[in-house]
Amino acid sequence: MSQLSEELKEYLKETNQYEHVVTLLYWDMKTGTPKLGQAGHIDAVTYFSAKEFARNTSEKLGELLEGLSAPAEYDALDDTWKFIVRRMKRDFDRNRRIPPEVYEAYVREQAESGRAWEEAKNASDFSIFAPHLKKMIERTKEITGYTDPGREVYDALLNQYEEGMDSATIDRLFNDLKKDLVPLIQKILAAPQPDDAAFHQSFDLDAQRKVQRMLLDYIGFRRDAGTVGETEHPFTLNFCSKDVRVTNHFHEREPLSAIFSAIHEGGHAIFEQNINPEYDGTVAGSCTYMGVHESQSRFYENILGRNKNFWIPVYDKLKTLLPQLQKVSPDEFYREINHVRNSMIRTEADEVTYCMHIILRYEMEKAIFRDGITVEDLPALWNQKMQEYLQITPASDAEGILQDMHWSDGSFGYFPSYLLGSIYDGMFLEALEEELGSIDSLLADGRIGEITKWLNEKIHQYGSTRLPAEVIRNVCRKEVSAKPLIRYFTEKYTAVYGL
Ligand code: ZN
Repeated sequence: MSQLSEELKEYLKETNQYEHVVTLLYWDMKTGTPKLGQAGHIDAVTYFSAKEFARNTSEKLGELLEGLSAPAEYDALDDTWKFIVRRMKRDFDRNRRIPPEVYEAYVREQAESGRAWEEAKNASDFSIFAPHLKKMIERTKEITGYTDPGREVYDALLNQYEEGMDSATIDRLFNDLKKDLVPLIQKILAAPQPDDAAFHQSFDLDAQRKVQRMLLDYIGFRRDAGTVGETEHPFTLNFCSKDVRVTNHFHEREPLSAIFSAIHEGGHAIFEQNINPEYDGTVAGSCTYMGVHESQSRFYENILGRNKNFWIPVYDKLKTLLPQLQKVSPDEFYREINHVRNSMIRTEADEVTYCMHIILRYEMEKAIFRDGITVEDLPALWNQKMQEYLQITPASDAEGILQDMHWSDGSFGYFPSYLLGSIYDGMFLEALEEELGSIDSLLADGRIGEITKWLNEKIHQYGSTRLPAEVIRNVCRKEVSAKPLIRYFTEKYTAVYGL
């Protein structure tokens, strides 16, 4: 190791102390801080984030990265550190191009916009949020002009959440899906639907917490490197591969919601826990590609969790913890966890109609950044697309365009990641079955550990060091395609609904 690379390591070590504190404060704010204590925590988070940002954009760091990018230094680095230097240099240059006063204004506007969105959602009144949304769109265009000069704005945004992805590829993938899914969904909705009364009785919340524990253990979440909290919106947060935390929500009459959130966040966590520990504390660790990340949470939630065989080894345990299910047969349980409904809310959607919720948002974002649609016209476009894709029209903006918070803090281009994740899953499932055999028998035989090990080896261990397209090519030896996912949906739901 050269002197410069030792210096960079030392520098990172100190920066990580700030990040560690910010992460811990954030966790505490979400899971334990009392209402009156929030303001003090926000002050502390702001203080430590500013310190961290200053270190990440300092002259000193710039010199270190510049020095390490010179051929004599760079060539002497191992592959991991080559990646780290390249990635840090890119992010450094990007961040330094944003004028500090623009960044500061953006942070403040994000907070104001978030508050306005909440108020608008509670009042179901889009006009409260509209001026802030307009500001977020303008500011996003401005900042993207600094971070990605010369690049078309929406493609630059997509690339920020799923590196290497662009709208031409997503157009192809989503159009393929749309063509086959719209008629499939119509057929499913016309078929007889299961009776779901047994799933909406009163379920003890503590029993639901025990179910979460049981499921996390079952899928391979490591308790010595992870813990669990409760929040209204479930999420996963990590310090490093040795400390990964998930949250869940519990509703008395919706036990399936907690069950599938537990598996989903568990999937995110298993990914993070199995990244090469040598990457901890660097940009090589913690996967920053949202499509790839969602592919893992959704693989556990949907491909595994909504498979009948997943439940065979644990169904008795589940019935012991939730005695209301004593009279529900495994077949009835399977039917309900794959109950397709045309509902208004994305986060409550089944795995099939979920795709249409994302395609709608993707098309809306393109309308904003490509076609320059005015903010005032957005609710009508939303409602028109809901009618076209799911044959329902929101009764209010709260259950329409105001339902998600993403646009309120300027996270444009994030939504497609969820569906890219499912598209990758279709491909991963094919590759996995070619190598390990039928997933049905693996699950039925209680060999889920072999599936997790396969995902660890093929995907998780690499963290951020492999770009999404490289992950796909290495696991599947093919270019990305929606065909496997379409095949999976068609075969599964033809059988479930007897189409
Ligand atoms: Zn997720």
